[in-house]
Amino acid sequence: VTRPLVRTSECRSCHEPIAFVRLIGGKVIPVNPLPGEDGNVIAELVGSRLSGWVESAAHPWQPGLLRFRAHFATCTERQARAARKPKPPPDPELDLFNQPTEETP
Ligand SMILES: [Zn+2]
Repeated sequence: VTRPLVRTSECRSCHEPIAFVRLIGGKVIPVNPLPGEDGNVIAELVGSRLSGWVESAAHPWQPGLLRFRAHFATCTERQARAARKPKPPPDPELDLFNQPTEETP
């Protein structure tokens, strides 16, 4: 059994374990708690918390950092719900992934 590196929580939709990554700028997104080779959430362990960013050209993966998959991408219950509702209302949480990376010049 591979144990997650960090304390996990439970997805309110599918009850799978999730971990949280604190992004640059302070937002927190749920990810699947086991790091892997794919996934566009880059993070490192700071104490017992994950801190990182969503991968982009400006903020690429770097050696030594972990990759996680955003839980929303794999949440079965969330997908089932989306399939039942052809036109779900906009989800402000999902907008996290479409926002440009915050940067100060
Ligand atoms: Zn879920």
